[in-house]
This record gives sequence, C-alpha cells and structure tokens, in this order.
Amino acid sequence: MHRAEEDYLKIIFKLTTEENRNLVKTNEITEITGYTDQTVNEMVKRLEKKKMLIFYPYKGVSLTSKGEKEAKRLVRNHRLWEVFLVEKLGYSWADVHDEAENLEHASSNLLMDQIDQFLNYPQYCVHGNAIPRKTGEMGVTPQQSLFSGEEEKRYTVKRVLDQAQFLQYLNQEKITLGTEVKIIKKDEFNHMLTIETNGKEINISQQIAEKIFVD
Ligand SMILES: [Zn+2]
Repeated sequence: MHRAEEDYLKIIFKLTTEENRNLVKTNEITEITGYTDQTVNEMVKRLEKKKMLIFYPYKGVSLTSKGEKEAKRLVRNHRLWEVFLVEKLGYSWADVHDEAENLEHASSNLLMDQIDQFLNYPQYCVHGNAIPRKTGEMGVTPQQSLFSGEEEKRYTVKRVLDQAQFLQYLNQEKITLGTEVKIIKKDEFNHMLTIETNGKEINISQQIAEKIFVD
C-alpha cells in the first residue's frame, strides 16, 4: 500500500467507525484532502480493486473488514507514537502530529507491539482518542462537545481535536485532558461561552468550545 492510499483509509475510518456512521460521501473526502473530484474518484477505484472499500454509486463509500483492519493498524500506530513522544520524549501534545504521521507508516506490527507493552498498553492517545487494541477492539470516543453543555454544570475534558494552534491556545489556558470546567454562561447569540477553569473565568468562542469534548 502507498502512503496516500493509507491516508484515505484513515480518513474514511475516522468519518465512519469513530462517528458511528456507515457511509462517507466522496465529496467529504475531497473537502478534507483538498484534492480534485477526479483524484479522489481514482483513489476510490484503486482501493476498491484492492478490496479495501466498497463504493455505492450516488451514496458513498464504506470500508470492507480488510480496509477497516488496515485503517485501525495505522490509527493504532499513530496514537501509540503520540503517547511515546509525549510521555517518553517530552513533546507537547501540540507538536506530535507530524512526527506520528510519518512514523505510523514506517512501523512494523512487531515494533508497535513492543512500544504498546513499553507504554503499558495505553487506552487513549494524548488527545483523548481511543487506541485500537492489537485485536481491533477500541474504547469509545467521547462525542459531547463543551458547547453543547449546560450552564452551572461541571464537566471534565476528555478529548480535544489535534490542531496545533488550538492546542497551543489550550496550553496557555492550562486546559488539558482531565481538566475540570464549569459553564458559567452560554451566549448562543454571540457564540460565546464563559467558563470557570483553574480557578478563573475565561471567555471562549463556540468554535473553540466545539473542539473540546467532555463528560
Ligand atoms: Zn492523538
């Protein structure tokens, strides 16, 4: 498999399995990758030939069990490398994406099993995404965004999107996985939340609050 093919499998996996959906429309892939319709259609055909996915005309694509297995292997590699880089090499969670993106394609299953054991079998990556086990099983992905929370209620940060600038902002505000947040005021009209965290009140935009997942 080529790296580009592997990246498509991961995109489809994240939009289906992790969001409890069955199908991904090819224009969703176009939007995420920035490639043309033609490029995406050609890639979909190639992956179908390799029995990695099934294309349903006018509806979209879904991974076969073979495709899902391969996507899970890559996602597992990526997330284990993130934990390794942060826990063992002292990287910030804002800086691990590109390294993990390269390493995930280059790592054998044997190496990853050793890394998994070395890290004591982590269930989640540093951003709160579930790490598929060797067997394919994986924990739930927290889906409730902070913005969908209620005033006066307390929440715990469980997952955040892996976007460098956003994560640097969270570093500034000392918000990380496990941080407690209380919603003081929800201003839907102005798309703002006032929250209390680390003993002080701060205002965050809806855009930011929708990238933070809580329970
Ligand atoms: Zn991650």
